[in-house]
Amino acid sequence: MTRQRSEARGQELRGTAASPGIAIGRAYVVDRSRLKIPKRTIDPDEVDEEIARFRRALRVSDRQLEWIKEKIEEREESEHYKIIAAHQLILHDEHVVDETERYIRDEHNNAEWALRKTVEHIKGVFDAIDDDYFRERRSDVDFVGERILRNLLGYDSSVRPPPDAIVVAHDLSPADSIQLFRFAVAALATDAGGKTAHTAIVARSNEVPAVVGLEDVTTAVENGDLLVVDGSRGIVVVQPAAETVAAYRERARKEAARGAALLENRDLPAESVDAVEIALLANVDHVREVKSATDHGAVGVGLFRTEYLFMTSESFPEEEDHYEHAKQVVEALSPHPATFRTFDLGADKVSRLLPDLHSEANPALGLRSMRLCLTSAVRPVFKQQLRGLLRASAHGRARIMFPMISGLRDLQKAREVLDEAKEELWREGRDFDRDVEVGVMVEMPSAAVISDFLAPAVDFLSIGTNDLIQYTLAVDRVNEYVAYAYEPLHPAILRLISMVVGAAKAANVSVGVCGEAAGDPYVAPALVGLGLRELSMNATAIPEIKSKVRSAHVAGLQSLASRLLELRTADEVKHEVRAYYAEAKLGDGEDDD
Ligand code: PEP
Ligand code: MG
Repeated sequence: MTRQRSEARGQELRGTAASPGIAIGRAYVVDRSRLKIPKRTIDPDEVDEEIARFRRALRVSDRQLEWIKEKIEEREESEHYKIIAAHQLILHDEHVVDETERYIRDEHNNAEWALRKTVEHIKGVFDAIDDDYFRERRSDVDFVGERILRNLLGYDSSVRPPPDAIVVAHDLSPADSIQLFRFAVAALATDAGGKTAHTAIVARSNEVPAVVGLEDVTTAVENGDLLVVDGSRGIVVVQPAAETVAAYRERARKEAARGAALLENRDLPAESVDAVEIALLANVDHVREVKSATDHGAVGVGLFRTEYLFMTSESFPEEEDHYEHAKQVVEALSPHPATFRTFDLGADKVSRLLPDLHSEANPALGLRSMRLCLTSAVRPVFKQQLRGLLRASAHGRARIMFPMISGLRDLQKAREVLDEAKEELWREGRDFDRDVEVGVMVEMPSAAVISDFLAPAVDFLSIGTNDLIQYTLAVDRVNEYVAYAYEPLHPAILRLISMVVGAAKAANVSVGVCGEAAGDPYVAPALVGLGLRELSMNATAIPEIKSKVRSAHVAGLQSLASRLLELRTADEVKHEVRAYYAEAKLGDGEDDD
């Protein structure tokens, strides 16, 4: 689609904020969608040569992927390595190869058209399956198909943006993304994808601002256009006016200065003015992120999401995999604690390894997480993880945390598996910490309400606000249409948190928060006021929360929290928090949107 240049001037596109930061630069459009696919009918005597041409393109594509894999190996990014390996498998898959050759042979299609029909057919099959995992595989087939096509057409498939370019694409394959970051790109903007798309994950781990899910950025932007990408707010400005650029430059400068200044508190304690220490820990999704956690000043990991091991493997991870990963984490953090949450699959955390479940109308309320672990099919896999984690506990301070516990019965069932694992290891003469701390996530309203029963049965409680809010307020946490109702400062949430803190205190066990709310500068002070002394968050949020803690009086936050508990709506609560910020000078002068 073409458009008038004047139309795009200053146009503001909104998408999903996938990786924070601001970048200003020239667009480098990865022109994938405009590949013209030739269609012709070949003569019967051309069939062999056409098939040979197709096979040559497959070999070239394979070599290209092999080359990318070698580069990744050097950089030890095994997750990406596996994705590329999976693309190689698709490349050789009989459904791709045999089907294309059949179209060439039987229907006399040229190789490009035959390949296109094959790819469309496979995507159609995936489309019919209502499952995120298969939707993702659909785009993998696309990426592979496009690579073969480019090689058939003799196009260069590598992406080589100039330094500091803003890469604009419909979607980026994992191979593209990995190559991209060798070119010092300034930012990414894509039509497709969500926060958990490959592009977003790779951008975050490389600290490159990104906005995804823009829908039509590739039509609104042309190569060389000046762009502003605001990865913190999910905005892309096309051909911005000079004053817009100046405003964003100023914002970027402030953000950078603020980030750098905040990082200076890395080695200082998170201690309030009235000498109350708050333990700030990190939420980590991958063993690779542990270094970033300590670099940002985390004094341990409060939530290690172990699901990634299930998302990147072809088969269920075994005891040895769990052990090796957990041991690395425990050793890297020592003497600080590493809290391993046992795998929490289902709903938004999809894995192809899940047993073939019937489709569920409400996956968030379905057979997921601990419920899944306790089924007879998955229980042995759960036990393997527990054995691996227990063995890792011999190397440092590991804590084991069970997700989605609704009450004592779930806890008791989970503990039975843990006890069996301990018993087996003991009989085998393996080393492990017999007193390893065991805790539960309080992320279902039921768990919060009976936290006085749960607390005496564990060593620690960890409030998972992401799900606690979702289930208490009945707001799907990934649904943008109800995002406005997702209120961490809703009076119901404050009351539940206060109940859990009270229950933990009465039972003399530790309690923390490990949901996103812990890293929200407008929520964390309220949490401290409610009595929390352990907050676990995205590592990059730690410096800011630490600076808030260091300039706050906990006594003041306590009286703030008592006032908040009397308020009747989330708006009243937010208003009171803001008033407190202004009065106590805790705010940072930034706008709060
Ligand atoms: C939570 O639910 O608050 C939580 C921390 O877990 P997750 O985001 O992985 O569901
Ligand atoms: Mg959760």
